[in-house]
Parts: sequence; C-alpha cells; structure tokens
Amino acid sequence: MKKYVLALCLFSSVIIGSAQDSVDIDGRLQPLLTEFFKYCDIYGIEYHEKLFQLKNVDITNSLPLEEGNTVLGMVTRNVEGNIENILINWAASIDPEILKVVSFHEFAHHFLDYKHTCEDCDEIMAVNNASYFNVARDWDNQVKKLFITSPVYLKLQKKVTFNNEAGEK
Ligand SMILES: [Zn+2]
Repeated sequence: MKKYVLALCLFSSVIIGSAQDSVDIDGRLQPLLTEFFKYCDIYGIEYHEKLFQLKNVDITNSLPLEEGNTVLGMVTRNVEGNIENILINWAASIDPEILKVVSFHEFAHHFLDYKHTCEDCDEIMAVNNASYFNVARDWDNQVKKLFITSPVYLKLQKKVTFNNEAGEK
C-alpha cells in the first residue's frame, strides 16, 4: 500500500512539474531536437534541465533577411542572461540541410555552452558558413567534432579525470 501511495505522489509531481515548465517546440524542429538529444545521450550530456529552462524553440519570420544582414538563427536571453528562446529564421527551413545545420548551431549554443569557433569556416559553430552543404556533406564528422570539443563535454572529461585520479589514491 505504501508503495502505491508513493507511486501516486511521484506521478502527480511529474504532472505538476511539466505543467509549470512547458516548452513550446515547433513541429518542424522537434525531429532535429530529438536527433540532437540522441547525440547528447551518446556523449553522456544531460539536457533535461536546460530543456525546461526554455520557453520556445521556434521557427519565426521576425529575424532579418536582407543582403548583408541575414540572421538564420539566434538565441534570446532573459534579464538574468539565461537563454530563453531558440529562434530559427523561416528562410532556413526552405532547405532541410540548412535547417539541420542552423538548428544544431543554435541548440549547441544552449545545450553545449558553445560560443563560436570561427568567423568564416565550414564548421557548425562558425559565425558564417561559406557553404552549409559542405557541412551537411561531412555531417557525421561535423557532429562528432561539435560534441567532443564542446565546453560541456570537455568539462565532463575533466571531472572524469579528476575522479579517476582521486580514486587511485
Ligand atoms: Zn551562433
């Protein structure tokens, strides 16, 4: 009986928890986010807490799309400086390859604590990509590099090393 009551409490707290922290995710970005989380699992990176810090993961027509001033994706922050919204320009959604690169770029800013890796190069975290298709063609390598050189992953590796050293003593 006790077990049953406990299970019921856990169940109701999950419901309350999810009602408070709901994230609005655009259906076109959901499969990409799911794919991104699969890689997080592979590399042992926890993402639930960061997911529920978000309000929206959205495709929008509010980002600039002019010659010399195009923003394909961005993150917006609240007053405390924490990322609240991940926004992707609708123009990026015209091509699935571009949408994938731009989405992973923005997801990595939030979930992997990334800043940009370079100004102009063919990497997912470049400020500008010379060619999204070069990145997409080399996708498996690109994603691997994105994860294993990410600030979150490197921090985890340091902890693992430290724990191993502490354990040896
Ligand atoms: Zn960026």
